[in-house]
Amino acid sequence: MKPVVLCFSGLDPTGGAGIQADIEAIAAQGGHAASIITAVTVQDSHNVKSFQTLAPSLITAQAHAILDDMAVAAIKIGMLGSVEVATAIATIIQTRPSIPVIFDPVLAAGGGTDLAGDILVDTIKTSILPLCRLITPNIPEAERLCAQSTPSSAALLNLGADAVLLTGTHADTDQVEHQLIDSAQPPQRFDYPRLPHNYHGSGCTLSASIAALIATGLPLSDAVQQALDYTYRTLQQAQALGQGQLFPNRFPVSQPSPTS
Ligand code: PLP
Repeated sequence: MKPVVLCFSGLDPTGGAGIQADIEAIAAQGGHAASIITAVTVQDSHNVKSFQTLAPSLITAQAHAILDDMAVAAIKIGMLGSVEVATAIATIIQTRPSIPVIFDPVLAAGGGTDLAGDILVDTIKTSILPLCRLITPNIPEAERLCAQSTPSSAALLNLGADAVLLTGTHADTDQVEHQLIDSAQPPQRFDYPRLPHNYHGSGCTLSASIAALIATGLPLSDAVQQALDYTYRTLQQAQALGQGQLFPNRFPVSQPSPTS
């Protein structure tokens, strides 16, 4: 039976990021995504232009319908969009404390548009982060959540999640260095060769594939390692489907085809 991952994410009509990225990444890991849309965005492959959140009561009703019916093995949260949506989702996940929650704190679009004001960031810190098994911030997101530059491992764990995967794309390093900081394990580093482009939906792909692998029962560090390997392949085989950032190929072939 496919493990079910319940996703709360924004809709990106380009198909690069957001809920479509989640559905594809989870399917590629052999899982099934149950999909609840938090916000509908207007965007192209360069940037987010605007968005509208959905009614918290609608999100809550959808979540309870799914949780009462399906054996949800993990929950993935992406863009929240408003304090009201964040509060509704926090209330929902508190009713199912045994389901691991993986949260990609989407605070800004890849093109730079702010997707979370300061009050939403405060709500995320007080209401969502303490409920998470894992959060997957990039460096700017980690700095904003910790309200300090280059936060220490202790500061990252103080945010309240059980573990933090700090993704290293934004650092000025030759290799991309990702760090897994888990309150129950020694820290681990995962290095990858730096790829030449900007990608639309890489963070969504990574966090959703981790959620799917955790849903299959893998321990956290194995799920992170496998999901990073998978995401790297999707980026190696990314395509310029629009005129801006490249789109991950979430159904990558294991060896790039010589004719592609
Ligand atoms: N979710 C939505 C709906 C988005 O529009 C975006 C970025 O534009 C993201 C998530 C984050 O995308 P990425 O995985 O590139 O950080």
